[in-house]
Amino acid sequence: MNENMAAIGPLDCRAAGCEGAILRVFPRRTAMTPTDSMAVVGFPGLWRPAAEEVHVSVAFAWDIERGRELADAWRQYYAVVKMGGPALDGEGDGFQPGMYLKEGVTITSRGCVRECPWCIVRGRIRLLDINPGWIVQDNNLLATGRTHLGRVFQMLRQQSRPVTFAGGLDARLLKDWMAEEIRGLRVSQVFLAADTNDVLPALRHALDLLDFLPRDKKRCYVLWGFNGESPMKGEERCRAVWEMGAMPFAQLYQPIGQHTVWTPQVRAQARRWQRPAITKALMAQEVLL
Ligand code: SF4
Repeated sequence: MNENMAAIGPLDCRAAGCEGAILRVFPRRTAMTPTDSMAVVGFPGLWRPAAEEVHVSVAFAWDIERGRELADAWRQYYAVVKMGGPALDGEGDGFQPGMYLKEGVTITSRGCVRECPWCIVRGRIRLLDINPGWIVQDNNLLATGRTHLGRVFQMLRQQSRPVTFAGGLDARLLKDWMAEEIRGLRVSQVFLAADTNDVLPALRHALDLLDFLPRDKKRCYVLWGFNGESPMKGEERCRAVWEMGAMPFAQLYQPIGQHTVWTPQVRAQARRWQRPAITKALMAQEVLL
């Protein structure tokens, strides 16, 4: 620990030369969390950087409660603690969500038009400012409306890096014009979802529209084990996704706030559909049999 920076609180701030410095606090570390020295995860520890303000940034609805606990904890040490981020409505005092995500990640909307029982995302679609980025993490980007989507595609065309639609595109909402917009981009990966068998016809149609992308760029989340569904059914859905030309990604269901312990056999079974190299080897082997 740097002794000079230990336990610096608001009273020490100007003396420490931190005028204008913002410490960003995140409920948990994810692939989207910034990694610079003024970004920390969780509750205050012994080492507290000099900062004029603390911003607790909440990207997901399931972290809102934890975000409030964090804000209370950080208020013990800093005079100005704000809370904001894409998950919050009407809070944030001018928070710019794009500043609080790892470089490249952008969230242009939150909420969803659906209420899937396995998902915690709730609330109507709310449009956010469109911050530049090439990893799009919206819950349901395609439900945001033509005007907003047009602006998002325009922003994506200006990016220097290939685009990843990581939040998942809703296959039921993909239209020809949207696919044409995606065709006009440099694409790293597009994620879709096949959480139930009901969505498979729409998924097939969406993958037909995206047939200009190779399999490796068309990833598809496949939920396993929701509502007592057997892992076998999840595996069947992964095979269906593969046969449609996409690369499945199995996700074992975990209820929010609880923890389901999957057996090592089921975890091993799912792993075959989580790593593209293993999935490809498996499918190549089956062709030879
Ligand atoms: S469509 Fe996706 S984001 Fe919307 S409720 Fe269902 S799983 Fe959640």
